[in-house]
Amino acid sequence: MKYISTRGEAPAKKFTEILLGGLAPDGGLYLPEKYPQVTRAELDDWRNLSYADLAFAVLSKFMTDIPAADLKQIVHRTYASGNYRNGRADSDIQQIVPLRTLEPGLHILELSNGPTLSFKDMAMQLLGNLFEYVLEKQGEELNILGATSGDTGSAAEYAMRGKRGIRVFMLSPYGKMSAFQRAQMYSLQDPNIFNIAIRGVFDDAQDLVKGVSNDHEFKARYKIGTVNSINWARVSAQIVYYFKGYFAATQSSDESVAFSVPSGNFGNICAGHIARMMGLPIGQLILATNENDVLDEFFRTGVYVPRAANRTYHTSSPSMDISKASNFERFIFDLVGRDATTVCELWTKVDAGGAFDIKGMPCWHDLPGFCFASGKSSHLDRMKIIREIWQNFGVMVDTHTADGIKVGLEQRRPNLPLICLETALPAKFEESIIEALGRNPERPAGLECIEKLPQRVELMDANLEMLKAYISAHAMTY
Ligand SMILES: *Cc1c(COP(=O)(O)O)cnc(C)c1O
Repeated sequence: MKYISTRGEAPAKKFTEILLGGLAPDGGLYLPEKYPQVTRAELDDWRNLSYADLAFAVLSKFMTDIPAADLKQIVHRTYASGNYRNGRADSDIQQIVPLRTLEPGLHILELSNGPTLSFKDMAMQLLGNLFEYVLEKQGEELNILGATSGDTGSAAEYAMRGKRGIRVFMLSPYGKMSAFQRAQMYSLQDPNIFNIAIRGVFDDAQDLVKGVSNDHEFKARYKIGTVNSINWARVSAQIVYYFKGYFAATQSSDESVAFSVPSGNFGNICAGHIARMMGLPIGQLILATNENDVLDEFFRTGVYVPRAANRTYHTSSPSMDISKASNFERFIFDLVGRDATTVCELWTKVDAGGAFDIKGMPCWHDLPGFCFASGKSSHLDRMKIIREIWQNFGVMVDTHTADGIKVGLEQRRPNLPLICLETALPAKFEESIIEALGRNPERPAGLECIEKLPQRVELMDANLEMLKAYISAHAMTY
């Protein structure tokens, strides 16, 4: 399996050659040259596999340059029940991503039982083991630099903690995260994890990361890398749970299902799109946004108008407060029949701060064939859904999952079982749960007193030179 760039100007590469990098050298995103196809016989064979065996079966089709025995070992180590806590008292944790049926035809796929209580662990835990494996093979080391306002940073730190050859420098905005989120990250005592709280907002932290990345000499000398949502291994790891959810919600592979997906950077639903392209019978991919609705606007009108950070709302589903979806280019590449010239034209506009409109283009008529539906949700909508799901089914959902359920119920087609992806546990968003239900969310065992643990964090001004000095003092080099 070779990987090509959506902009068409980069040489084709193998999986392990693109694993550690970000964008392709031509500025595009990597995708498989051709999507592997899953036969009906394979679907039948895979139906009863454990999560780890299913992950091995799916990922073997993409990660073809890792010897099968090694990949199998990595996948089994990643998706072992010891890494996944009992998110809810009656979850069957052996399944890694249990399907919870609310009523016939309406399900929640629990993706948030990993160490940091969001679905980001599903991909990031695998990434940690893949990075360690490939770095060791290549005799290399890596310093991961990132900025976070919540879920990504903690998922990355818990995936990379204690890994050989890897250090993590994670910037977060000082005083802008919840006490629980701070405790989750800053209580890590592993010597390869460096938390840096920046006096400023998330965008200041993000700008510092860009500042370091633009210094090519520094970046090369200190072997700086990232784990952001465009990483292909993250997208591919997420394909697996669409298969698992499908098998859990159906009796036979003649049936189709709908997935509803709370979306921000389009990484999660991109994996669903690829699962469908591989032949998984998905009848509907329902994209849910919050008040930051650029993707919903695109699927309704054909017009994509990314917004600047200062025009992005802060909402009660903060992990979806995104107005420029970094993985969207992967879908558009498929939508325009994999014509890289068209992608370049469209993204010349986006990269210059503009918008594009596909209504006059032939691909507008192809869009329905990709089975997307979309909608948006507001603060009041998600409060109402959290209350309804609690009252009707005794199940507590977080604000992001609530956005997905709201839009899923609105857009679903009759007779298509609806699988709502749970992207975080309510424990991560306590204030919103108290507002909706007047009570605290349950905390998974072991996290009851996490705020009381000692914390390890460096407080720093938003100053590029200071950050570089800190990295050079603590990074591994030869
Ligand atoms: C990251 C995240 C999302 C958005 O996922 P994308 O892959 O960026 O679309 C939704 N909900 C939660 C809780 C998240 O952490």
